[in-house]
Amino acid sequence: MDKLKKLLQQPDNRLCADCRAPYPKWASTSIGVFICTKCYEVHRDLGAHISTVVSVNLEEWSDEQVEVMEAVGGNAAANSVYEKCIPSDVRKPSPNASIDERTDFIRRKYEDQEFLKPNLRMKATSRTRSSSSTEPTSLNPSALSNRDSVNNNRDSVTSNSRSSRLNQGETPPGSFNNYSNSSSLASSGRSGGVSSRSSSSSSARKEESLGMLKVTIIRGRSLVVRDLLSSDPYVSVSYGTQTFKTGVVNRNLNPVWKEEFYFSVGNPPQPVKLEVFDHDVFSADDSMGTAEVDLNPLILAAQMHQGMFEAFGSEKIGRWLATSDNSLIEDSNIEVIDGVIKQDIIFKLKNVERGELELSLEWVPIHAP
Ligand SMILES: [Zn+2]
Repeated sequence: MDKLKKLLQQPDNRLCADCRAPYPKWASTSIGVFICTKCYEVHRDLGAHISTVVSVNLEEWSDEQVEVMEAVGGNAAANSVYEKCIPSDVRKPSPNASIDERTDFIRRKYEDQEFLKPNLRMKATSRTRSSSSTEPTSLNPSALSNRDSVNNNRDSVTSNSRSSRLNQGETPPGSFNNYSNSSSLASSGRSGGVSSRSSSSSSARKEESLGMLKVTIIRGRSLVVRDLLSSDPYVSVSYGTQTFKTGVVNRNLNPVWKEEFYFSVGNPPQPVKLEVFDHDVFSADDSMGTAEVDLNPLILAAQMHQGMFEAFGSEKIGRWLATSDNSLIEDSNIEVIDGVIKQDIIFKLKNVERGELELSLEWVPIHAP
């Protein structure tokens, strides 16, 4: 695999990401780092939900695995995230370090994510919380109030029959694409999500906010006919318990909405659920298909390129790959355009005979003060 060889030739990838031993023979395709055999053994013991390890000599690398390694950009890029805030008294293990020393460091680095910038930590451990001098990150109040007023103008439908119908078509965690399956930076919340979520609710801890998401519902194409000759489509957009609706476009199978909705995205990020309905005056609205946006590729790309946006101008920083699970019509590019992180998506609607839905996302990460 040429791409893999090219990556391995990068100077930073010729040393183990964790202990700097030369010529790493293994890769964590979930984290995106190249590691030595000794560190590989620790990664393997962490479990595949944190680190999925494969030999670099193995012929059977999937395109997706290579894509992830490329998207992360190598050991230096990964360490610039995973070791961004490494305390001065913590030293990386040497190539000859004991297994205990190695294990301690690697667990703190990837499992506890102790050395990440505080606002990126997926699991806020009590240790880092109590010792951290920085306040929990909070949204810029003025930005929030602006966005709130936008939301308040929409009629919000929460927990009605619609959202429960939507849930039935929900893709089970784990069957998303490779990014969310394997990328532990973005999805440790999902893989370890059950415990972290329940602990946060039981301790009534304020949910950490990762950023603001703007969802623009652009248009539908070739939607199904639900009435006699046409349909009166609108889109319901849900994140967590919040649900908003676009306006109804009467008798149109190729409706254009161009409506914007804002959501505050907590940690771990949940999927954005979309459902197109045919507005019906006399009976319940009929479903015209569903789609679900996995936010992990977008958030991961933003985290990986944090602080590099100004230099970029306009640049592709990541991709959400089209797979049979996510019903993307084509790979969805994540780009930075004039400092704004954007992702355009075209879905083939699920649970329906036909129809496409086009939307775009904008991501505003919350930076530590
Ligand atoms: Zn190593």
